[in-house]
Amino acid sequence: MMAPNEKAAKNQFYTSLERTGAGYFDYYLLHALMDNNYTKYDKFHIWDFVKEQKEKGLIKHYGFSFHGSPKLLEKLLTDHPDVEFVQLQINYADWENPEVASRANYEIARRHGKSIVVMEPVKGGTLANPPAAVKKLFDDYDPNMSYASWAIRFAASLDGIMTVLSGMSSLEQMEDNLSYMKDFKPLNDEEQKIIQQAQRIMGNSSTIPCTACRYCTKGCPKNIPIPEIFSAANKEIGNGQRDEALSDYKKAVESVGKASDCINCKQCERACPQHIKITDHLKKCAEMLEK
Ligand code: SF4
Ligand code: SF4
Repeated sequence: MMAPNEKAAKNQFYTSLERTGAGYFDYYLLHALMDNNYTKYDKFHIWDFVKEQKEKGLIKHYGFSFHGSPKLLEKLLTDHPDVEFVQLQINYADWENPEVASRANYEIARRHGKSIVVMEPVKGGTLANPPAAVKKLFDDYDPNMSYASWAIRFAASLDGIMTVLSGMSSLEQMEDNLSYMKDFKPLNDEEQKIIQQAQRIMGNSSTIPCTACRYCTKGCPKNIPIPEIFSAANKEIGNGQRDEALSDYKKAVESVGKASDCINCKQCERACPQHIKITDHLKKCAEMLEK
């Protein structure tokens, strides 16, 4: 969360240092820069602050995670050439998506010679369960390759990647991940073409591009489980799985707010790094899943 003032912002660094007991940070990340918050990093003198910590040896390398426009990334990397790495949202489905701009941001970071940490390679789990037409494409090539493996290998195959944060949440996912990342082979030409076909299909998909980061839910006055509702809706929109969508929706809203409880305060939209029109989607979800 963005600190309210300079002192609180700087204290976040000292708190992390104390809580981890690490003594210093190998890689220190300024969190979630985007078009509506980047000026605070200047106002709170955070760029000078991380540089000072580096000079003191408390930070070895610093960078920032980014959720903004290519124009802003160009500006930040021009204004702060000492930044050593950038954490970007990169996945094959959002490669050309203008809201996420995976490709444009990746190319800008590389042009500035920065290493890249990839976040959201599986798009919050969405690409582990892609639309049926994409599943068929992947299965026809090799039914033993998991859908998540296509997404993670796509990101890891790009030049200049420092690491891919795959966001595993179970032992099964860890085992799957190790099976293709331990002795990593980049996508071959045929596999790249299959990904391009998948991108074309996903470009036509009207699923809600939620990555389940949960930034939106913290301040919702109606306690609406936004990512779970969108995940349920996507089962119907992307895969035509109506029964599953209805059952997931019922479970998601059992003891909290429903999609139709939204009072349109838009707190969630201000927090969403994917710039999703959450309130519009919630209206559609209510129509789709509450009738
Ligand atoms: S607009 Fe709706 S979903 Fe968003 S924070 Fe307000 S009540 Fe919650
Ligand atoms: S902030 Fe946006 S991307 Fe993140 S969970 Fe909420 S709707 Fe999804």
